[in-house]
Amino acid sequence: MTSTLDQIVAHHPDHEDRYEIAARIRGEVLRRVRQAQSREAELKHCPACDTDKPKAEFHRDDSRPDGLKAHCKECRR
Ligand SMILES: [Zn+2]
Repeated sequence: MTSTLDQIVAHHPDHEDRYEIAARIRGEVLRRVRQAQSREAELKHCPACDTDKPKAEFHRDDSRPDGLKAHCKECRR
C-alpha cells in the first residue's frame, strides 16, 4: 500500500497536486479500513457457546450464505 502511494506521488511532477493526491488516497484508504472494521465489528450468534461475538471471531467459510462458519473460533478448537 505504501509503495503504491509512493510511486504515484513520485511520478507526479507538480508539488501541490502531489500532496492533494496523497491526501485523497489516504482518505480513500481510511474509508475502506473503516468499512472493513465496521463489518468485522458486526455481531454473529454462536449456537455452541450461545454468545453474540464479533464476526472477526468466526472463521471464513465461503460456502455459507454469510461467508462465515456457524461456530466461533473458540468453539471450533
Ligand atoms: Zn462459540
